[in-house]
Parts: sequence; C-alpha cells; structure tokens
Amino acid sequence: MSRRRMIYEGKAKILYEGPEPGTLIQYFKDDATAFNAQKKGTISGKGVLNNRISEHIYTLLGTIGIPTHFIRRLNMREQLIRQVEIVPIEVVVRNVAAGTLSQRLGIEEGTQLPRTIIEYYYKDDALGDPMIADEHIAAFGWATQEEMNDIADMAIRVNDFLCGLFAAIGIRLVDFKLEFGRIWENEYSRVILADEISPDGCRLWDITTNEKLDKDRFRRDLGGEAEAYQEVARRLGLLPEGESNAVLDLEEHRAKRGK
Ligand code: C5P
Repeated sequence: MSRRRMIYEGKAKILYEGPEPGTLIQYFKDDATAFNAQKKGTISGKGVLNNRISEHIYTLLGTIGIPTHFIRRLNMREQLIRQVEIVPIEVVVRNVAAGTLSQRLGIEEGTQLPRTIIEYYYKDDALGDPMIADEHIAAFGWATQEEMNDIADMAIRVNDFLCGLFAAIGIRLVDFKLEFGRIWENEYSRVILADEISPDGCRLWDITTNEKLDKDRFRRDLGGEAEAYQEVARRLGLLPEGESNAVLDLEEHRAKRGK
C-alpha cells in the first residue's frame, strides 16, 4: 500500500492527495449506507462499477461542455480528479415522484411530474442533510446567486442529457443527486460538477418492468443490488459482452448436460 495522504473519508469514497497540486485521487469503496448512515452494508464490486459508470458519464458530459472535476480513471477503483472547494449543497433533480418527495407530499411513487423539479439540501450529516430554499443559500452565503444560476443551468442540462442516455438503454431516470465544487483561477472562481454519478445517487428504473436498478435495492432490502449495478454498467456498454454472458452460458451448458 502506498503511503499517500488521506484527505477525507466519506461513506462511499475516500479522497487522497493527488500527484500534482490541485488534484486528488478519488477511491470508490464497496461500502453502502442509507438513511444518513443508520443502515450500513457493502455491495460487492460496487466501487469498481461506480468508478467505471461515473467515468463514462463525466466523460460524455465533458463532450457536451459541462465542466467536471474528472480528469482520468487511474485503475479499477480510483480516478484522478481536480481538487475543488465543495459547495455545501446537494442538488436533487426529479422527473418522476419517488422517495422523500412521495413521502413528503403524498404523491404515489412512479407518478410523472408535470415538470422537472430541482431541490436543494444542506450538506450536513449531523443535521441529516435538511432541505433548504434559495433564500437559505443566499442568507447564509453558501453560494452566490451567480453560482446558483450556473448550478441550476448545469443540473437541467445534465438531466436532459442523462434522460436521453438512459432512455436509449431502456432505463427511466427517476431522480438523481449532484454536487458541485468551486475552482479558483487567479482571483476568479467558477463552479464545476464534482462527486460522482452512479446508481448510488440516482434512481434508475427499467422502462418496461419498472424494476429498480439502483441503491433503493439496498435501502429497501430488495436484494440483487450488485446485479442491478452490473446491469446498468452492462447496458451502458461498460462490461465486455462475453463476461456477463459467460456465467449464463455455463449454466445453460450445465442444464443441457443435466447437471
Ligand atoms: O431520498 P430522496 O428521494 O430525497 O432522494 C432523491 C435522489 O437523490 C435519489 O436518487 C437518491 O439516490 C439521491 N440522494 C443521494 N444522496 C443523498 C440524498 C439523496 O444520492 N444524501
């Protein structure tokens, strides 16, 4: 193990000092938590899949002009990222009612929303990430109005792009969470997309069966979470075709031989 300096350990990722100033290494763990870490577990292979899925999505977002912290993937569980000053706001984008929106407003899960809704939550584990309004962000100076305009614009563009990307592989993007960070260039700063986009922070439902292909499998004890993450990666074309089929083929083979 290398002796590099750990900067921060979160619930699903660890950040290490990067090779150059202004960079960090983001390490993806298999650890899974839910309900503000009241429920803990591991999803075998999750870190490897999330690293690949997030790399893929951030690379595509880069091609449509969304600035992100992603630089390049280093290995199975790590990627090189730009160091940012995290904006302490979780941005949730919703297309379909689910989760806390359904609970809070009594709207049945799966109901298409009349328009895309953006919500903000204050990133504070001790407070359980409370929902906040623009007013709180401005009053407490968590981000400037200009930064919030950029964040909302990017969130909508990311949503439009991801809805299409997932629809093309038979997946409905129900909702997801984004985080942004500030980078400084001389005395100027701008916000870029940080963190990750993976089934940990998205609700992804199969378009025809509504089967959940995301962390709700873990949150709700549905089982098959590793397989669900794998299915997302497979549909995105990130698993070699032969690899996932090999197991199936083997089983078919055994069945044919009556074993
Ligand atoms: O729980 P809730 O319905 O508010 O979650 C909305 C979306 O944001 C879900 O896709 C969930 O995975 C994501 N989320 C997250 N991290 C949080 C809260 C929500 O990734 N701390």
